[in-house]
Amino acid sequence: MSEYVKSLMEEVIAKNPSEPEFHQAVEEVAESIAIVLERHPEYRKAKILERILEPERVIMFRVPWLDDQGNAQVNRGFRIEMNSAIGPYKGGLRFHPSVNLGILKFLAFEQVFKNSLTTLPMGGGKGGSDFNPKGKSDSDVMRFCQSFMTELQRHIGPNTDVPAGDIGVGGREIGFLFGQYKRIRNEFAGILTGKGLNWGGSLIRPEATGYGAVYFAAEMLNTRGESLKGKTCLVSGSGNVAQYTVEKINDLGGKAVTLSDSSGYIYDPEGISEKKLKYVMELKNIRRGRIKEYADEFGATYTSIDPGADYNPLWNHKADCAFPSATQNEINLKDAQNLLKNGVYVVSEGANMPTTIDGVNLFLDKKILYGPGKAANAGGVAVSGLEMSQNSMRLSWSREEVDQRLQQIMKNIHRNCVETADRFDCPGNYVNGANIAGFLKVADTMLDQGLV
Ligand code: NAP
Repeated sequence: MSEYVKSLMEEVIAKNPSEPEFHQAVEEVAESIAIVLERHPEYRKAKILERILEPERVIMFRVPWLDDQGNAQVNRGFRIEMNSAIGPYKGGLRFHPSVNLGILKFLAFEQVFKNSLTTLPMGGGKGGSDFNPKGKSDSDVMRFCQSFMTELQRHIGPNTDVPAGDIGVGGREIGFLFGQYKRIRNEFAGILTGKGLNWGGSLIRPEATGYGAVYFAAEMLNTRGESLKGKTCLVSGSGNVAQYTVEKINDLGGKAVTLSDSSGYIYDPEGISEKKLKYVMELKNIRRGRIKEYADEFGATYTSIDPGADYNPLWNHKADCAFPSATQNEINLKDAQNLLKNGVYVVSEGANMPTTIDGVNLFLDKKILYGPGKAANAGGVAVSGLEMSQNSMRLSWSREEVDQRLQQIMKNIHRNCVETADRFDCPGNYVNGANIAGFLKVADTMLDQGLV
């Protein structure tokens, strides 16, 4: 670690105590851009990185709501408006009991670089609540969403801040949130993305993150003259990102053999076919059941996951590619070692920061094709950006048109990472490529806009 990064991290930890995920995200970026700051003293002088680390605004609020039994409940709501240099704040809302300020700050920080990479004019933000939608009735979820939006509506707008979904926030939640905004403000505006197709949503938005992560893997493989055809793939999670990752792996001739939720994972060596995936989508999106039922239905192996164990057995199967698509830090050093031992040489991150720093360093040392989340999962926010464009123009593009734009954006992000890594003397290092390329656009804009 350079002296500069060391002293910066000391300051970040002292100023933001008890936020380990935020420290981790900052350290990774600071390590990557140390070389940029050496070559460009103007960024150091203007304290660009120090300013990027400080959210422009943090909103924290009480979310009181009444449950089905008539009991009063209270949760905590957040919106981190991290950086608006290149466009309105943009980033998802996460509803999960683990949500706290540090987790949302890490996600908002990552989002700034990711959104910059998409080439679209979007700043970075993130929000959510410690509300747990799992096992709640639709009416509980609706009343919670209405209360959450009653406060959030003061802070967002089509040219200010445009949230989307993330863990625990899918089509159902976006609908309830949008409805409440419209009721309070008496305006039909593009204030959220991931909307339903009948009311301003974009085709391919639900698919975009998963498809994008697979397109990114295909681009990485292409640099070695290979494709996904015939490749065995490990996928974690079974939510939005995981489902469409499996769909695109199948489309491109690969075979996905695992899916998980927070209780356990299934291993299906025959592959999760189109028919089986349809079952998963019905199970997860409509019946809201557990992945274990897949094993009962199709005779695959089911293994419980112990969150306290020192490794996750899902990552310990023979395969070529891995698509972590559940949550942060789901691949630790031991898991990274297991992946390599089992022949995995492509990792494309659908989730945000799913690999711990020592795991990332191992992938980089071994020079596998490692696509960090900022680049590999940027397809979701990219299509959110396309949804905003369609809303502004009040028209809708066809499925083919949006998918084509998504593919082109993923190609551009890949090329930008590769070329930037080459320019900064670390060829093949997609982590440095993504961090530096994302940083440069935001940093130059911040210089242009003065000390604000
Ligand atoms: P989702 O639809 O809510 O699905 C999340 C999946 O991950 C579920 O299967 C969930 O299992 C599992 N999971 C969540 N927390 C977990 C934990 N602590 N331990 C083990 N499993 C856990 O969410 P998603 O939209 O697919 O998001 C997945 C990841 O992709 C997140 O890191 C998110 O930030 C990232 N991402 C999403 C988008 C997007 O467009 N949605 C875009 C970019 C990045 P349970 O149901 O048991 O909790």
